[in-house]
Amino acid sequence: MHGLEVSWFACISLLIFFLITTKLKPFYNNLPMIKKIIFSGVLILFMSVWIMAGVKLLFHVPITIELFLSYSLIQSFGIVLIVYIMESNKEKQSLLSKIIQMEKVEVVSHLAASISHEVRNPLTTTRGFLQLVNESDDIPAVEKRYIKIAMQELDQAESIIRNYLTFAKPAPEVIEILNLKKEIDKAINIIVPLANMNIVKLSSESETCYIKGNTGLFQQVLVNILKNAIEAMPSGGTLSIEGTVEKSLAKVTITDNGVGMNDFQRKRLGVPYFSTKEIKGTGLGMMVVFRIVESMNGSLNVESKPGKGTKITLIFPLNSSG
Ligand code: ADP
Ligand code: MG
Repeated sequence: MHGLEVSWFACISLLIFFLITTKLKPFYNNLPMIKKIIFSGVLILFMSVWIMAGVKLLFHVPITIELFLSYSLIQSFGIVLIVYIMESNKEKQSLLSKIIQMEKVEVVSHLAASISHEVRNPLTTTRGFLQLVNESDDIPAVEKRYIKIAMQELDQAESIIRNYLTFAKPAPEVIEILNLKKEIDKAINIIVPLANMNIVKLSSESETCYIKGNTGLFQQVLVNILKNAIEAMPSGGTLSIEGTVEKSLAKVTITDNGVGMNDFQRKRLGVPYFSTKEIKGTGLGMMVVFRIVESMNGSLNVESKPGKGTKITLIFPLNSSG
């Protein structure tokens, strides 16, 4: 007798719930799996109670306790099951893509380790012989200068190998306590010439705090990120680096107002050989960064807007004493 009205009531209720759940989506998406399951179960239980109560109170439809229980419990149980299946599937998927990513990195690491070894040896030998030749008295000063330049170039090649290929060793060899402010200053010093060349204004500010890591590797992290930021601003801009303490965490925020990245590019950061710089890029810089940050028990967060700029936040556990 109330068929139509009851259906209308149910439809409107469902619409209201649909709107509420759309609003709650961002909150829901951030919950861990178990809370998602509880949340959806409770929400559906609430919805069933609401509809049953509405039908009973507004339309005086007799509702027995059995009907009430079976309706609300079956609905909630169904949703709990569906959410569980969906979430565990999602988790499996993300685990799978992480494994694939790790395997790619592993392959590159092995390759890099062997290449760096094979290339370094002849470099060192050549440098040694050049040095010997340079000590001879039969050579005119002009030629000694050439030899010196050759040696400098070899050192440069060696340093490129060292900087790009050390990620072959995932764990820092010597773990020290690093003064974050000093490390930031050091990285800024390294990057100043490149910034000047690109008319990039640098600003840095940091609280003094301490984190654990290896200074050489940590410099690689900062310099790689700063270098990318400068390269993202081909016609100049501002680059700021900030070190702060929040609760028991040290935070380094690096912000540029360069070309930015779209979602697709942002998600591919750290994938070996992903680069938008064609022949100028190696696509290894961010992979090294991720690898080192991970080995320092840290995490990395990237926010970016195409055309507006990029903000990279590094987070590390704080070391209470210096
Ligand atoms: P490479 O610098 O050799 O290209 P990276 O691994 O350092 O390799 O960076 C990968 C890619 O990520 C870059 O080619 C660039 O497209 C993008 N990227 C990294 N940092 C930034 C940034 N600050 N702004 C815009 N794009 C960036
Ligand atoms: Mg780079």
